[in-house]
Amino acid sequence: MNNSETIYLSLGSNRGNKMENIIGAIEKLSHLLGTATAVAPIIETEPWGFSSCETFLNTVVSFDCPLAPEELLQATQQIERQLGRTKKSIDGQYSDRTIDIDILFYGSRVIESPQLTIPHPLLHKRLFVLQPLAAIAPQLVHPTLKKSIRQLLDEADSGI
Ligand code: AMP
Repeated sequence: MNNSETIYLSLGSNRGNKMENIIGAIEKLSHLLGTATAVAPIIETEPWGFSSCETFLNTVVSFDCPLAPEELLQATQQIERQLGRTKKSIDGQYSDRTIDIDILFYGSRVIESPQLTIPHPLLHKRLFVLQPLAAIAPQLVHPTLKKSIRQLLDEADSGI
């Protein structure tokens, strides 16, 4: 029986060898979850929510995920640590990071626990998430906002 669900993860890096960090994260995720079902083009973006002279590389990847959501979070956090991320953002204060892995969607599930909010609460406001996500899943519908990624990108782009 196949119990896996389609997940979408946002990857970002603005420290060290950014491209190596992104590719390394995809490799580690693939070891754990199997081959990615889609990988968006990697884009360069300005820091969001804090100032830094280092730009980001960002992408979005999807997998068929056999892990439960909390297990997936533990796994992504372990990969962040393995790739040298030491600091978490504290009280919404962001800083440079070797790798940041956010869980955007877990199938169409809506989860609100102390550790995990899915869909990711800021995804519809972030062009660095919506642009790569729209490249691989434009028709995907946000389970609570009830809008497609294409629509959310158009709205974010025009500042709605
Ligand atoms: P950050 O340091 O910005 O990567 O934030 C990590 C924290 O956000 C962790 O403590 C997670 O428990 C929490 N978190 C809540 N929802 C999510 C999500 N959808 N994806 C990743 N981390 C999440």
